[in-house]
Amino acid sequence: MTVNVYVPTPFRHLVGNRVRVRAAGGNLREVMDDLDVQFPGFAAQVRDGSGEIATHIGVYVNQIEVEALDGEATALAVGDEVAFIPALAGGAGVALTPEMVERYSRHLIMPQVGSVGQRGIIAARVLVVGAGGLGSPVALYLALAGVGTIGLIDFDVVDRSNLQRQILHQTADIDRPKVESARETLLAHNPNVDVVLHEAPLTSDNAFEVIGQYDIVVNGADNFATRYLVNDACYLLEKKLVDGSILMFDGQATTYLPGQGCYRCLYPAPPPPGMVPSCAEAGVLGAMCATIGSIQATEVLKLVLGQGQPLVNRLLLYDALSLEFRTVRIRRDPECPLCGDHPTITELIDYEAFCGSPFPHPGDADAPA
Ligand SMILES: [Zn+2]
Repeated sequence: MTVNVYVPTPFRHLVGNRVRVRAAGGNLREVMDDLDVQFPGFAAQVRDGSGEIATHIGVYVNQIEVEALDGEATALAVGDEVAFIPALAGGAGVALTPEMVERYSRHLIMPQVGSVGQRGIIAARVLVVGAGGLGSPVALYLALAGVGTIGLIDFDVVDRSNLQRQILHQTADIDRPKVESARETLLAHNPNVDVVLHEAPLTSDNAFEVIGQYDIVVNGADNFATRYLVNDACYLLEKKLVDGSILMFDGQATTYLPGQGCYRCLYPAPPPPGMVPSCAEAGVLGAMCATIGSIQATEVLKLVLGQGQPLVNRLLLYDALSLEFRTVRIRRDPECPLCGDHPTITELIDYEAFCGSPFPHPGDADAPA
């Protein structure tokens, strides 16, 4: 039994951008199962977490709502037309206002984003750790994209030496708390987003409580103590972590998904204080922040949209002096003290705060695996 299926714009990227496809089945449930086999990801778009047709999806057989027929048991005949119509405004959560439709129009016309994707971005909750060099471009691009809830954690005040790279802050913000300056900038760019401030250092006392409120965490920390704390808390809370770091002309980025490795698989413990220079000691080219921060923001949006291959099990290395990008493979280390088979770290640790960032030689990156 073959029926015709009308595919609205938001779902067309799943079916090779076709308007109509054919599917087999004697009733609606069988047709939906067949669509998911033919076009993996289809079910995830139309069914909710418990497997029911999502409340924001209207399903029609020959233009009649299936709720008025037999639901998923509705029998189908050859040549019937089935349509899956998502609510384009309202429905499951967020509605796109006319202002948003205009603001996000360059997203909405992309098949990988569309109305469904944009509403997913608006529903997303992302924590940016650090409102500094990396946190600035990350938070800015997430706000511009419409990420509905952006958390910022930072306890510092704006210093004149920050202004060479931290684009959330301006000269008039010197001595203001960074999170306040950051919120003002983000809301000036996009008043639709909610910027949640955590004006505190991240410690073992508050890490679970703060990180637990978000779906994805972006690490823009400038010190090892925070970097390890964020890594450990994200692993223990099963949060997605988009990591990035910069020093001088070098940058790194990677994405950790729960159960697929962590920062400690690469670097099991922080280096002793003084072994690795900090940004304050060695310096950083300001424009490097934009390169790595933009990659982190892109990774977040890919995760939210479920598009492409995230930078998982790969470490991106950017050498700006030679202008070379390379990725080295990284893997979950069964011996990792945190995510390994026999973990020795089962709670959060506060390290002495010291600044810096290690840079592995490409040949070393596979060593822990
Ligand atoms: Zn690990």
